[in-house]
This record gives sequence, structure tokens and C-alpha cells, in this order.
Amino acid sequence: MKKSNLFFAVAALSLGVAGLSGCFNRTEQQGAVSSSKTAKSLKHHSSSKKAAEESVRSSSSQSSSSSSPSISASSSSSSSSSAIVQTVAATQSGTNHIASANAYAYPASTVHVAMTGAKTSINHKVVFLTFDDGVNTSMSPRVLATLKQYGVHATFFIVGNTINSTTAPVLKQEYESGHGIAIHSFTHPYNFNAPGNSGGAIREYYQTLSAMRNVLGPKFDSKVWRYPGGHMSWRGLAASDANLSAEGITWMDWNAAVGDALGASGPKTAAAMLQYHAKTLVSFPQSNVEVVLIHDSVGKELSLQILPQIIDYYKQHGYQFGILS
Ligand SMILES: [Zn+2]
Repeated sequence: MKKSNLFFAVAALSLGVAGLSGCFNRTEQQGAVSSSKTAKSLKHHSSSKKAAEESVRSSSSQSSSSSSPSISASSSSSSSSSAIVQTVAATQSGTNHIASANAYAYPASTVHVAMTGAKTSINHKVVFLTFDDGVNTSMSPRVLATLKQYGVHATFFIVGNTINSTTAPVLKQEYESGHGIAIHSFTHPYNFNAPGNSGGAIREYYQTLSAMRNVLGPKFDSKVWRYPGGHMSWRGLAASDANLSAEGITWMDWNAAVGDALGASGPKTAAAMLQYHAKTLVSFPQSNVEVVLIHDSVGKELSLQILPQIIDYYKQHGYQFGILS
């Protein structure tokens, strides 16, 4: 089911165990620890990561509304998402960001190529902080506050079924604050490569886009997609990829990560997480763009804790902060 290309094997090896996985649950990570650290076993191990992150996903959709002090109460708090429709400031038709973000928005298709190390029109250092599995009212607002404090922007890969009347104000704030809004499926399944399911990704893409438009207005659009678990982890996505491509949608993986979805085998301290991040920087093809995988799902306290240091690292190394468009 999974890719077994050299790139994945080399990158995973240099990280020790299953280091590239964005969305794997605790059980799978424990399995990773017990397996030997050969490329062969890593590939085998990765092929067993099926029902990953469902626990994360379900918890993130059960977020409380009691801890969102930074969110303005602009939502109508209607009972259904279809009734959420709000006025969004600075709406820009046909994009995933407000007009003022044009200055630091980069086409995902270009970034996608740049991540392979190939030369592109991006001839300077740019980092794309990406936050997966929101939106929620407990962690997402705190990530937003930190980004604001440090004056940088990011791209949020939203899971569609987290969008409801309670979380709508947070999604709206992400958009209005100048961040990029991208799509990370509707239900976060791991079967987009299953036989007969080549249309699954595009279906969930449109489900999520519809939910987003209920909040951000009918002119909102996003052509940036991330597969649950990442494209790099799966084989058999060609048909699904073709369906996405036919609609002008770019799938986006990452080439840096903090290891915050690795469960038992993941970093447990701030220092370990920063070390993990540093390792990923040398595990992928060298590029002047870095796309950093982080999660803003409920409970990712350590990720939030080290976020200032991650930001500082890229600032000190001369990176601009971009968003994916
Ligand atoms: Zn995810």
C-alpha cells in the first residue's frame, strides 16, 4: 500500500523510526519502536499504519469553547454550519487568503517542486509553517496568538468536519489574520488509495471547501490539499492525484517536522522536539524552502511550547515566512 522509494527510506532512516509520519497513533508508534531500524523494516512498519490519528482527530473535534479568549465573539453561533455565513473582512475572491497576504503567498505548485531540490522561481529562503488537524477552540487560538506575537504567518490544513458554529470564529480569525487556509480532508480517513476510492479525496476536498465557504464566504477558494498521513506514506494514490490535479489542486507534504504526532516514540520534551526538528532538516533533499509539519490539534502542548523557538530558528537563519496558496 505504501511507497517504498529510496527517498522515504533514507529520510526515515536518518530519523530513526518512522520519523516522517505526520499522523500516526500511539499503537503504531510503539510498533515502530519494536521494529528494527532498517529501511526494509521501516517500510514494512509504515505499511501497518492504517487507522492513524483517529483519536487525535476525534478529540480535536470535541474542543471546548471555554478557552478561546483571543477570539472575538463575531459568530452567530447558529446551530448548523450552513447558517454560519459571516461577513469576512478583506475577502479576496478565488484564493485561500486575504488580499494583504498576497505579499507572502506562494503557489503550492511551485513550493511542491522546490521541496525536491529543483530550481524554481523561489530564489530565497522561505519557510512555511503548516498546522494540521484543526480547527478547534482550545489549541488553534493559542497558536494564532503565538504567530501574532512573533509577527509571522502560517498555513492551516483544516479537517472539514471540525468546522461548526463553535469553531467557525477561529477559522475566520485564521483567515482574517492573514494566514493561508488549506484542506486536510473532511473526515481524516486513510483509505484514499483503496481500490475504487480514487474519487474519495476529491469528494472530501469539496465537502471541506463547502464547509469553509459557509464561514468565509462563497468566493473563498483553496487549491492546497494534504493527504492524512502525508502523500509520502502511501502507495496507489496516482488515480486520486490525477483527480485532484484535474481540479487544479496541489497536494502538499512537508520536508521538516517537529514529530508531534508520533505517539509513544515521539519526542517527549521541548529539547527532544527541537532536536527532532533539526534532524528532519537534513533528512530531505536540500531546498531553500522548508515546509514544517506541526499540529494544532487538542493536546499538542509541547508543539505550542516550542513554537517560538522554531520561529526564532528560521528568523535567525534568514528565512522569510510564507503561506501556501
Ligand atoms: Zn492529519
